[in-house]
Amino acid sequence: MDPLSREQALALDAADPLRGFRDRFVNNDAQRIYLDGNSLGRLPLATRDRLAALVAEWGERLVSGWPEWIDAPARAGDLLAEHVLGARPGEVTVADSTTVNLFKLCSAVLDTHAGAIVTDRGNFPTDRYVLEGLAARHARELRLVETPADAVAERGAALVLLSHVDYRTAELADLAALTAATDADVVWDLSHSAGAVPVDLRAAGVQLAVGCTYKYLNAGPGAPAFLYVAEERQAQLRSPIWGWFGQRDQFAMERDYDPADGIARFQAGTPPVLALAALEEGAKLTAEAGIGALRAKSVAMCDLIVALHDAWLAPLGFSLGSPRDAARRGSHVSLRHLEAWPINVALIERAGVVPDFRGPDWIRLGVAPLYTSHADVWDALDRLRGLVERGEHHLVDAAPGRVT
Ligand SMILES: *Cc1c(COP(=O)(O)O)cnc(C)c1O
Repeated sequence: MDPLSREQALALDAADPLRGFRDRFVNNDAQRIYLDGNSLGRLPLATRDRLAALVAEWGERLVSGWPEWIDAPARAGDLLAEHVLGARPGEVTVADSTTVNLFKLCSAVLDTHAGAIVTDRGNFPTDRYVLEGLAARHARELRLVETPADAVAERGAALVLLSHVDYRTAELADLAALTAATDADVVWDLSHSAGAVPVDLRAAGVQLAVGCTYKYLNAGPGAPAFLYVAEERQAQLRSPIWGWFGQRDQFAMERDYDPADGIARFQAGTPPVLALAALEEGAKLTAEAGIGALRAKSVAMCDLIVALHDAWLAPLGFSLGSPRDAARRGSHVSLRHLEAWPINVALIERAGVVPDFRGPDWIRLGVAPLYTSHADVWDALDRLRGLVERGEHHLVDAAPGRVT
């Protein structure tokens, strides 16, 4: 069979061990192809049911629900530790946003040693902004270098902040090699790898990490982020936000601040119980599928995007913005084009394909192996080819949007 035929894509779907997961997510529009699970994952049916039950429980139980709800951050953290992050129980908790967790961990590191702050210029904006703020607050030099490899080669650094998967290019960094290449503390942002790319923090010698749960982990818009501190570092690091949920004997109330032992010290205020329940359901689906199977399917679908790009899109002025080698790539493929923005708008408005756009000229196609199919990929690229061939991207209103 022609490897680039639709029949071949359908054959791969028929043989896909994860094919049953697709129907466990809400999908009310069979015509729309969703390739933005790397930005906001779909809603699992189990989550919809669990949230309805939990809302009812809130109504019934009111404050008497807290004895069970209060352990939700630790429960969700342990689930992620075991099935997603390769960490031990008690090394991961869930709280706040990725941005706030970055602030907490990076600030804790800067409180313990002198030296510069380093990241790569291409790192995600919020990561760079947090470092700019911390550099000013702690009177440190902030060095922006070209690549993660350059970052760990810097001398005199206290803190290096790196993303495991580059949000634009999908370039996959080597956790173990980069962590070992510097004496500085390396904080890893796993937002674009957690749930899609195998992560083994313990084996990689990583001590500090954060990441999103609303992307490949399908925990819902604004769901809280995870935070990992290796057991052997926990006693030494303190959150800059001294809150009662990080306090030893939280309900003793009258004492001065004395941080809890363990990862709980990185909690600050009352946890978002509804969102944590959603995360638990999302993480359970990921655990059930298994990260190895998810990665294998993700690689196959991203390879298909690359092959179809070469065959159909390169002649139309596209170029590949991601590594060709799957071993160096996360779970999305970026395509670049001089008219990327109007093409992106036309894809959504005229072709029913949802990618996302990152300026100035990147269209990201994300595959979420729990619910994306090979046929989705084939159809999306076929629609993309057709609309550019017909010049439909010249027919849309290409005014910039508030959210891209
Ligand atoms: C998505 C993403 C974030 C988002 O941070 P929030 O605080 O949840 O808005 C941060 N860093 C990276 C690398 C991301 O991909």
